[in-house]
Amino acid sequence: MRKKVLVLGSNFGGLTAALAVNQELHGDVNVRVLSPSERFVFNPSLIWLPFGNRKAEDITFEVGPTFEAHGIDFVHSAAVEIDADRKRARCRREGLPSGPADLSKREVRRRVCGG
Ligand SMILES: Cc1cc2nc3c(=O)[nH]c(=O)nc-3n(C[C@H](O)[C@H](O)[C@H](O)COP(=O)(O)OP(=O)(O)OC[C@H]3O[C@@H](n4cnc5c(N)ncnc54)[C@H](O)[C@@H]3O)c2cc1C
Repeated sequence: MRKKVLVLGSNFGGLTAALAVNQELHGDVNVRVLSPSERFVFNPSLIWLPFGNRKAEDITFEVGPTFEAHGIDFVHSAAVEIDADRKRARCRREGLPSGPADLSKREVRRRVCGG
């Protein structure tokens, strides 16, 4: 059975970890990223925002398309609980892409972290 890797967070640490694990293991694992942020923020450049030298769109980008291009599942939600013993995380349901009523039970399970 394919191993599952769950990465929490999608900024420097999370984005790099997810892409590296996926690449190093040659796609032999299912990588899922769970993050409340849909956009990567190049935080070293945040200093320029208050001075008007950069706009938000100059120093951020949507992470979804990057993950999708690498076959990585992205769930837009925050982890609210981590159960290290059972190797599971629980996330907020409101982060699901559309109301659970619109999704099949299987899709809801797939989308809820660890499912
Ligand atoms: C691999 C790597 C490369 C780096 N490269 C650079 C560089 O080129 N230049 C530079 O200046 N610095 C670089 N840094 C340093 C970086 O700017 C800092 O280490 C940064 O502030 C920390 O990044 P982070 O992704 O660990 O945390 P953050 O930037 O704080 O990101 C945390 C992420 O976790 C998410 N999160 C928060 N709460 C939850 C939750 N409950 N559940 C799930 N997700 C949650 C957030 O939405 C966010 O996506 C690098 C760091 C790393 C690890």
